[in-house]
Amino acid sequence: MDLNSENIDLPPGGFCVTVAPDPSTLMRILIVEDEPDLLQALARAVRDAGYAVDIADNGEDGLFNAENTDYDAIILDVMLPKLDGWEVLSRLRKSKKTPVLMLTARDQSRDRVRGLDTGADDYMVKPFDLPELFARLRALIRRSAGKTSNVLEIGDVVIDTAARNISRLGKAIEITAREYALVEFLALHRGEVVTRTTLYEHLFDEDDATLSNLLDVHVSNIRKKLGHEFIVTRRGHGYCIE
Ligand code: CA
Repeated sequence: MDLNSENIDLPPGGFCVTVAPDPSTLMRILIVEDEPDLLQALARAVRDAGYAVDIADNGEDGLFNAENTDYDAIILDVMLPKLDGWEVLSRLRKSKKTPVLMLTARDQSRDRVRGLDTGADDYMVKPFDLPELFARLRALIRRSAGKTSNVLEIGDVVIDTAARNISRLGKAIEITAREYALVEFLALHRGEVVTRTTLYEHLFDEDDATLSNLLDVHVSNIRKKLGHEFIVTRRGHGYCIE
């Protein structure tokens, strides 16, 4: 049923719909989650936050909805019946760039890396805070709204997230896979300070004290290639591309 339509046939006895102030600007979110309690709680919270919400409790229905409706964002659980979240994501990415926030379990640590490789835009580890979920959802929608192609331009630096390469002043820059991942992650979170911890989690598989130095080495190499001002250090907080 299309709640935006002006011609809604009310069933006998009627029913209640929440009327948004301006339905044409209402953001529409799809939630794919098979745990009934979590699905209902999420749907209610997202609706209360002023979004239109569609739900699916398995991967197959989720993919069908995702392919046939232009959502502003999708909240996608990893462990799902019929099709798991990875499969949904990789099939969806063949046709659509809808921003996807993956929900992973705490013991699926490798999922974070895999999710970002498969084309997820962000992830959250269960259990999560709703305020953080909304902050991430808003950031995701904001980024995707300003992003009409796979190309991110930051000053004289151009990042092609489809080809995974970087050029500066029109010249291709030689960059390692890990340096690229670091630049891309900061660029996608442009204007936000990204903590060192977050960067480790996204870039490295295991916890290791020596990684702390590795991160500094990568940042220093990137600055040599893209300019010292490209990545700003926020002492005690992390790194940022402004
Ligand atoms: Ca699940």
